[in-house]
Amino acid sequence: MSKKITLLGSTGSIGTQSLDVIRAQGYEVFGLSAHSHVDKILQQIEEFHPRYVCMTDPDAARRLDAELSGRADAPRLLVGPEGLKQLAALDGTDVVLNSVVGIAGLGASLCAIESGHDLALANKESLVTGGHLVTQAVAKHGVKLLPVDSEHSAIFQCLQDKESAKSLTKILLTASGGPFFGRSFRDLEGVRGKTKADALKHPNWNMGAKITIDSATLMNKGLELIEAVWLFGLPPEKIQIVVQRQSIVHSAVQFSDNSVIAQLGVPDMRIPIQYALTYPKRVPGVVPELDFAALKVLTFDVADDETFRCLAACKKAIKKGGLGPCAANGANEEAVKLFLEDEIGFLDIGRLVEAVVDSDSFGGGYTLSDVYECDRMAREFVRAHL
Ligand code: NDP
Ligand code: MG
Repeated sequence: MSKKITLLGSTGSIGTQSLDVIRAQGYEVFGLSAHSHVDKILQQIEEFHPRYVCMTDPDAARRLDAELSGRADAPRLLVGPEGLKQLAALDGTDVVLNSVVGIAGLGASLCAIESGHDLALANKESLVTGGHLVTQAVAKHGVKLLPVDSEHSAIFQCLQDKESAKSLTKILLTASGGPFFGRSFRDLEGVRGKTKADALKHPNWNMGAKITIDSATLMNKGLELIEAVWLFGLPPEKIQIVVQRQSIVHSAVQFSDNSVIAQLGVPDMRIPIQYALTYPKRVPGVVPELDFAALKVLTFDVADDETFRCLAACKKAIKKGGLGPCAANGANEEAVKLFLEDEIGFLDIGRLVEAVVDSDSFGGGYTLSDVYECDRMAREFVRAHL
């Protein structure tokens, strides 16, 4: 029987690449969600015939409802953040793939897990903001948490030999370095307004706007460091960030005998997406093979957290523990929004994220409502310190 998938955030960069994989593998789509792109989701409905669709933006939901009215095969429409959680929880799916952007994905991740669904997770912010709640729920409900982020998929793939995995001593988390690799603090002072376009140009990956800016500030690597702590259980000091400019080595692990195993491939998210959906099997897919003859060189470098303060802030946040990472994430989401609206400069993002992390001790346990309250406060802090 064909696998049934619920795909949250289907109109985004990961969402559309997931649909490439779903199409190629002949999987069934059980549910789809988007925030505001009505035309895009309409096309997806026509091609994949999901049983349920959620629009999280109520105005867009009204427009979609009007478009769907009268159609005999129209999917059932769910609306708003509550609708997204309902969709994630519905029975009838084999796996929920969460590719929503930002903390908006957290509630749906928890609902999917609590309903007993395996969760393929691209939405790293779920683990960054609520890592304790997500991992606890996974253990309680006995579901699989399958990483989609390329680095975490690489690490996961390197740890499939369970005996070796017991002697894991270090993770080598690779980073492309983003479009501003090698630039000094002074060089970056001018990245505002028209130079914003440079921040939106990633050298190796074509991604959504938020994660593209996160890659330029190295916030993405900071978020991924936190994500790795929750997924693989190593303390942050055992996770070394290594700049690999070509984005060919997607990450590596080191064992107690100092042997290092890495996962390599062309920079194409459809490999990790497919592995999460076919796990533990490997099957032929849509991604071409890596041409070593054309490749010739692989370079490695150190990540500069003196210049890229978001990375330094995330390291501090995970060391503080508790809601520290949630505060860093909330500050970053707000600061990136302001940067994309030309309200602040590039370096302000790091300044604001670090200031939020430095503003409190953040330690201790937390509930889901504490997470949302902390996120709200971090955003408010940012707006008050422009
Ligand atoms: P995009 O911005 O391209 O897509 C985001 C998706 O989420 C869209 O479907 C969007 O709908 C939907 N969405 C936006 N806002 C909300 C909201 N408030 N509530 C519910 N849904 C919403 O992002 P990406 O695909 O680039 O990234 C998705 C996630 O995957 C992020 O967490 C990112 O960090 C992670 N990731 C992405 C990678 C990539 O290569 N892109 C690589 C590794 C991880 P609409 O289109 O209607 O706005
Ligand atoms: Mg990544």
